Parts: sequence; structure tokens; C-alpha cells
Amino acid sequence: MFETRHLTRRFGDLVAVDDVSFQVPDGSTVGFIGGNGAGKTTTMRMIMGLLAPDAGDVLWNGAQITAAERRTIGYMPEERGLYPKQQVLDQLVYLARLRGASTAGARAEAMQLLEAFGLGDRAKEKLEKLSLGNQQRVQIAAAVMAEPAALILDEPFSGLDPDAVDSLSEVLSTRTATGVPLLFSSHQLELVERLCDRLVILSQGRVVADGTGEELRSRGTARHRLVMDT
Ligand code: ATP
Repeated sequence: MFETRHLTRRFGDLVAVDDVSFQVPDGSTVGFIGGNGAGKTTTMRMIMGLLAPDAGDVLWNGAQITAAERRTIGYMPEERGLYPKQQVLDQLVYLARLRGASTAGARAEAMQLLEAFGLGDRAKEKLEKLSLGNQQRVQIAAAVMAEPAALILDEPFSGLDPDAVDSLSEVLSTRTATGVPLLFSSHQLELVERLCDRLVILSQGRVVADGTGEELRSRGTARHRLVMDT
């Protein structure tokens, strides 16, 4: 499991992330909700070690996370990291090889994931030839490849049609079923309530709610909608 404790990050006068503490237990799916600029991406970047916090810590199984542990996390940034002119399959294989998979193992896993997303017949195409929704599925396949020890996905469902949302959530649940903790961000409250065990709601850099969908509803949906609208 991983957790943040009192994570804080300023940009000039702006406190983008303000004393943020939450846990993502093994096998659980936590939805990270908040409007534009709430601080979701900044928090994820600090968890991944891509941005230094001004204060606070990221813990992995109760101890300060190490660089080696961070490398075992499958991360999909909001600004996607793949190469438009390279073949879909090659890119997935390359990523799995970086994490130590054999070429044959990586190819088999990549094909299996592409099939799960209905993209088996697009494996040899350049990424840029795919629709935006399909490019996004490839990005997600890239994060899920090579059995990551945890998953952190920034807005994985944005722009996906309902079928793609279903196939993606099925793939993700095969990972969480093996104990992998999953954190993903979204603006879509209904979707997150449906897919997640817990929700962490951020507003202006602060955690304003943390609990199951039911707990948050019983504390007052109106308030939590209000937060979403800020
Ligand atoms: P979105 O859903 O729009 O991606 P978010 O919740 O991910 O929003 P962040 O991207 O973390 O929010 O941004 C939080 C705040 O920090 C915003 O006000 C943003 O403008 C600011 N911010 C983020 N990165 C930087 C930076 N490198 N320099 C200055 N300000 C930044």
C-alpha cells in the first residue's frame, strides 16, 4: 500500500497541495476527485518523485518510499508520454522490457492487453494513426504492462466512450484483484463512485472529504457536489 502524509507544495504564493494525507491500501481503488487546478496532478507527481514536496512524505508499506519502489509503479501522466510515430506494439514491449520482462513475455502481454481493449488488429500501426480514444487505451495499456506493484493514472477515463470505460475498468479490476493498489484522478463523480472503494476529494489543494461513496453521500451529497463545482 502507499500513502501520503502532510504533502505540501507551493508555486510562488499559491499552495497547490496543502497538507494532503490519504492512503491507497493494497487491492483497493481510490478515486482522486477535484475540479481544475485542485492539485491532483501535483500530488501524483510528488508520489512518483517527479516533483519535490515542500513538506510531507510518501510512504510505501509504512516506510519512506525508495526510488526502486517508485519504478515498480505503473504511472500514466495527464500529458501522455508515448511516441506518436512509433508502432503501438513496439512501444508497449519497450516499456515492459524497461521493467525487466523478456521480449517474448512482453510481446505476449502487450498483445493480450491490446486484445482486451479491442485493439489487437492495430498493434502494428503507428500510434498517431489511432483515434484519440484508442491512443488513450494504448497509454493505459502502457501503465498496466509488466505487472506494476501499484497504479497511478491521471484522468484515465477522460474522453473515453462508455464501452471503453467498461473494458478499461475490467482490465484494472484484474490488477486490483491481485492486490495492486490503484489511484486514479477524475472530474467525473458518478464514474468514480461506481468504480472506487474510496474517494478522496480535493478542493484548492486540500482534502475536503475521504471515505466510501456511501459515507460521503450520508454526510451530504449536496456538499460534495458543491465541491465538484468549484
Ligand atoms: P486538472 O484537473 O486541471 O489537471 P489538477 O487537480 O490536476 O487540475 P494541478 O495540475 O495539480 O491540478 O494544479 C494545481 C494548481 O497548481 C493549479 O493552480 C496550477 O495552475 C498550479 N500549478 C501546477 N503546476 C505548476 C507549476 N509547475 N508552476 C506553477 N503553478 C503550477
